[in-house]
Formats: sequence, structure tokens, C-alpha cells
Amino acid sequence: MVYRPITGVWEITMGNNVRGGHYGSFYSDPLPDELTTAEAFDLIEQIAYLGLRYVTLSGGEPLTRRDWAQLVNYLTRRGVSVNLITNGWAVTEEVAKQMKNCNISTVVVRVDGTREVHDRILRPGVYDRVEQAFRILRQHDIDTRAITTLSVENKDILPQMKDELIRMGVSSWQLSLGLPTEMMGGRREDWMLNPSQMDDILRFCTETNNEGNIEVYPANCLDCHSRNRFGKRFSSAGCEAGTGGLGFLYNGDIVSCVSIKDRNYIEGNIRERDLQSIWEDESKFLWRREMTNEKLSGDCQVCQYGSECLGGCPNTRLVIGRNLYGENPYCSHNFAVKTERKRISELNDATELMASAKALIEEHKYQKATMYLDRLIELRQDNPEAYRLKGFIEYQNGNYEQSEESMVQALSLDPSDSHATKVLGMAVFKQGKRTEGIRLVERSLQMGEATAQEELKALKYEKENNRPYPRRQPLQQNRVEKELFVRF
Ligand code: SF4
Ligand code: SF4
Repeated sequence: MVYRPITGVWEITMGNNVRGGHYGSFYSDPLPDELTTAEAFDLIEQIAYLGLRYVTLSGGEPLTRRDWAQLVNYLTRRGVSVNLITNGWAVTEEVAKQMKNCNISTVVVRVDGTREVHDRILRPGVYDRVEQAFRILRQHDIDTRAITTLSVENKDILPQMKDELIRMGVSSWQLSLGLPTEMMGGRREDWMLNPSQMDDILRFCTETNNEGNIEVYPANCLDCHSRNRFGKRFSSAGCEAGTGGLGFLYNGDIVSCVSIKDRNYIEGNIRERDLQSIWEDESKFLWRREMTNEKLSGDCQVCQYGSECLGGCPNTRLVIGRNLYGENPYCSHNFAVKTERKRISELNDATELMASAKALIEEHKYQKATMYLDRLIELRQDNPEAYRLKGFIEYQNGNYEQSEESMVQALSLDPSDSHATKVLGMAVFKQGKRTEGIRLVERSLQMGEATAQEELKALKYEKENNRPYPRRQPLQQNRVEKELFVRF
């Protein structure tokens, strides 16, 4: 598959003039192995050649790099739209004029609290510079936005921050999740939000947007799946690391995303290879390009949205669980699933559990139905219908191995179950054992499963043609089913 990168984030320096807080580097000076101006220009040529349309400059603090304006100028002349993320400290009239002259697209200023909180996180006087930056940039008619790294320090003052940003004339505001990394100023987990607070953040975004005074949106690290809980998903792109986007580190290292610092995920260095050959190397970026929901773990692996969202932000999974294939506890949906499972684990009436599961299956709320069935199976391992329904749901969700396991259990309790035999055959077929799968579906037909006729036709067609049987389904019905499916 050919991937075309559209966006990139480039940490042009690790030097920083306002150290501390949730973000940026701890270094006051640039690191010795940062790209020279000539090397940076060469990288820009390669970025343009590869076809990137947007590049965000960050750091460290990008304005501490002496040639920042030359880099912006070069990028825009080569047709690349440039955003720059700054702490605002160095934004003066002169800097704003330079930005304007370079045709910078957007300047994003970091704001991590009200005056009191921002200055406490960083140092006294920084908030004054933030206010000054917003004022100067507005006067120079530069598109200016705000970004906040969420932590326990600021989660409760978002309404006050909103009022302040509106007062300062800011019209767009991004919230991202602070993670306990070097980027969080060396702070530990006790600065991080709790998964149970994600809904509060998403609700705040929704309500603020409804007010219409400022646009506030969660970064992809927060927005992996909010549609079902708050009416819509805020962004449509999802994580594009390694597929539609990439990152450039200060020393020319190429990564899928600059947030992922682990050395195991450095894909190459432009001092050793050109950018295009790194991007097009079929052995690179594989963790991302070959990611499927089946490779994830926990509730992300079996999630009804898994094939679409692939577990949300990989960096969150890596930092929190030390595993790119782990589950994402900071997903609002993930938290809701866990909360619901806990509630269901306290139910003890097998008849009611089965009735609830069946009602949910009728409504296509499969993930929730599975929780009722799991609880029922925990209480009663001798109920073939529970296994049969679970196997059916797992088949619907594309978890064919689990579907096979459940159907084997169902048939061990009731060998005469023709429906279980049919779905077992379908699950086995989907795992590559095609002859065995067709044999089982034929058997289910002999056992009296009338619906097996159509499935048999479909499986034989797929075996012969190596592509799925083209089923006719009215578009409208398909749409309604999909909508029902996405409600948890
Ligand atoms: S639980 Fe995992 S797979 Fe499902 S929406 Fe959340 S992050 Fe995505
Ligand atoms: S890994 Fe996370 S932070 Fe990086 S691009 Fe993907 S969603 Fe964004």
C-alpha cells in the first residue's frame, strides 16, 4: 500500500527559554547534535518533495532557534503551510512582523492555566508574556490559537480559562492529555488526569462549543471515540502517525509521531538516508501500518469501534501501559465499558441476564450484550444458549477465533444445535480452514438449519473466487443497522 504523508511535526530545537511545566524540554540551550541550518534546509527540500502540505514547528521552544524565521520562510516558499507552537515568551512586535513576512499560517500559544496556575506551573511572569503574545499576534492579524496540556492542576479551572481566552480574543483552543513523560516536566503520574475524568473534559468541550464563543476541541489523544457518548466525534482524522503524518526530531531522527520518543520506534535519520526512502521503506513504520484491532489487548481488542479507531492514541497506550498494543484506558468509551461491566458483575439472576442479553442483541448493542452473557456464563457454565449467543456476537464483531471457542462450548453442551454448527463452520472458514468450514455448514444444513443454504452458497463462492460473496442489502437498512451498532 502506498502511504502519502500530509502533515508533519518538527521539533526544530530542544532549547527552551521557559523550562518546567508539562511540556517542552528541560534544556535551556540547544543540544549539540541539532540539525544545522544547511541540514534543515535540505530536510525542507525533502519534505516538499515528499508532498507534505502542513508542518508544525515545535520544540523545546522553536523561537529560541536563531534561524526559525528562515526555516518558516523556506517552508512556505516551498508551498508548505506552517504552524508554530510557542510558549509565547519571545513573541515581540519584531517577531510578529517576521512571522507575518514569512506567511506563517497559525501560531499556537501554550496556556496551562489561569494567571495564578500558569505561573505556578512555570514561573512568575510567564502569563503576562502569554497575554502579550496574544495581543501582539492579533494586532498583526496572525491566526492565533491556544493549546492546553491537561493535568490535575488545570482540569477544574477550564471554565475560568475559557473566559480568559475569550477575553484575550482567542477563537480556537485545543486540549491535549498530559502524560507522565519527560514532556510533563518530569512530573509523575500524580499530575495526570484519571480515566473517569475524560467524560467531564468531553462534556466541557461539547457545552463550550454549543455556547459558540470559542471553539474548543480535544486532541486525538483524547478523542478516540466520543461520538456515541456526546453526539459526535470532534475530529475525523484519528491518529495518522506513520500513515498520513510523521515527525522529525531535533537531530534528524524520523518517527511516526514526535510524542513517541521510545528509541525502538525511530524509523531512520535523515543524516543517513533520505526522507523518501525512509518513508517508502516497506520495513519501516510497520507497528502502525500493520496495526489491526486484533493486535490490541483488553477491551480495545474486542471493542465494537476497534477496527475504526485502532485503540486511539498509540502514544497514550505506550506511556500508560508500556505497550503499543495495550488497551487505552483514557478512552471515554473504554471507561464506560469497564464501569458497565462492574455493574453487571453484581447481577445474579440468570434469567434476567439472558433476557437483557437477548434484548440488547435485538437492538444490535453487541458489546454490552456480551457483558451480560459473560456474567451469565460465570454463574452457569451449563447454558448452551449463552455460549451460542456469545459465539454469534463474536462472529459479528470479526473475532473468529473467540467465536469458534464459544461455539465449541455450545456444541459440547448441546451437539444437536444446528445454528451453533453453522456459525462454527463460518468462523472456522474465516480463519482459513475453508474445507472444514464448508463441511460444518453442510452438516448444519443436514441437521435442519435452513438458513445454512445461503451461507453455504456464500462460502463456496468465496472459496472459488477468493473474494466475499456480493450480498444484496438495501442501503437504507444497512445505514440503520450501522447506527444501531454504534450505540453502546
Ligand atoms: S475502547 Fe479502545 S478500540 Fe474502543 S473506542 Fe476506545 S480506544 Fe478505541
Ligand atoms: S500517536 Fe497520539 S499524539 Fe501522536 S499522532 Fe497519534 S494520536 Fe496524535
